Amino acid sequence: MPAQSLWFPYAQMLDHHVGNEVMRAEGVRLHLRDGRVLLDAIASWWCVIHGYCHPELDAAVQGQLADFAHVMLGGLVHRPAQELADRLVEIAPPGLAHVFFADSGSVGMEVAMKMAVQYWRNIGVSDKHTFISLRHAYHGDTTGVMSLADPDDGLHKGFAGYLARQVFVAPPEGMGEGRGCVRRSVDEALAALVAALREHGPRVAALVCEPLLQAAGGFNFYPAAYLAEARKLCDEYGVLLVCDEVATGFGRTGTLFACEQAGITPDVLVLGKGLSAGYLGLSATLATGKVFRAFLGGADAAFMHGPTFMGNALACAVALASLRIFQRDGYLGKIRRMEQIMREELLGTVAPSVREVRVLGACAVIEVDHPEAHRGIQDFAAEHGVWLRPLDRAVYAMPAYVMDEASLRTICRVMRRWFAS
Ligand code: PMP
Repeated sequence: MPAQSLWFPYAQMLDHHVGNEVMRAEGVRLHLRDGRVLLDAIASWWCVIHGYCHPELDAAVQGQLADFAHVMLGGLVHRPAQELADRLVEIAPPGLAHVFFADSGSVGMEVAMKMAVQYWRNIGVSDKHTFISLRHAYHGDTTGVMSLADPDDGLHKGFAGYLARQVFVAPPEGMGEGRGCVRRSVDEALAALVAALREHGPRVAALVCEPLLQAAGGFNFYPAAYLAEARKLCDEYGVLLVCDEVATGFGRTGTLFACEQAGITPDVLVLGKGLSAGYLGLSATLATGKVFRAFLGGADAAFMHGPTFMGNALACAVALASLRIFQRDGYLGKIRRMEQIMREELLGTVAPSVREVRVLGACAVIEVDHPEAHRGIQDFAAEHGVWLRPLDRAVYAMPAYVMDEASLRTICRVMRRWFAS
């Protein structure tokens, strides 16, 4: 048995051997020690939106490094953090005017939960510290946000009993093609949400959701109409709306933020992953003036959070460069083209084990009935020069936005070929 000094994520270490040692990563390709070069279909868990070793991003990190890598934000400030906060306020859905930085999506979501709970306490409303979350949700791996993940189906079901008890409602399901379609309509899902708000509203701090695309919890897509109505219901029942755009932010669903498609502003919005283009850990929790103002007053009203690495200067510098490239190079156009290609290539994939195929923005999913149906696909894909990593029942592609058409078609065809064989 190898020394196992390195403990891998979500892995049974008893028989875990990782032979894919990356020596170099450039553009959309991973160069392995054994000489293989793999096209990366999942952009390192969807964060490397400009590909690896982007010269302008490398230069942004190096430029900042010449001044300093990190200083605390407690009592000190620096230009990259201030400029990034200003930029995010400019581009976010209108009304989100205040930015709290942290170092990962999970912690950004913890910040959102704490903000919601403290908001109600600060304005003098007691006992609002439960959350409504969606079935299939995933919001990170830390203990607060683990409680928001589907308790029956999610990655954290082994922790039942330890976590806070939240209220779960089922979102609409079945927006793709195949026999798994229209499993739950928008109307049915909204009726369930109304029932939950009626029953639990007075003790609920916030409804939390990944807008339009639920990622790690099963890659469910749902219509913007559900989100638009959920926004109205939150106002009606006196509940905040927290949108987790850690996965969907920065173009993944076809617009800069998924919330835009519903024309809504959440009370709190969380960004991560693509924010720093996969270079360094960074998240941003944005709040509206209404939320922010509740924290103005005596010392007891101040928001009680402050991670060591919040607003890391290298991470903020690379995020600023990433945003510049995204807008200058017309990324939303690139994403529209990727969506079109993935639709052409993947819709119509039929096989006995395939339940549904769906494509939204730069995300394509083939959902099977049981993970057995894709056992072996990772090796099969690697033999054909592609890096895939299925998640539960989903074989998916979420590549970097700089991927050329031929490479994207190659990835899709390898996915299809597995199901054809
Ligand atoms: N929220 C969503 C929607 C995510 O997809 C993830 C990561 N997959 C997280 C939160 C947690 O982010 P991190 O891994 O950076 O802690």
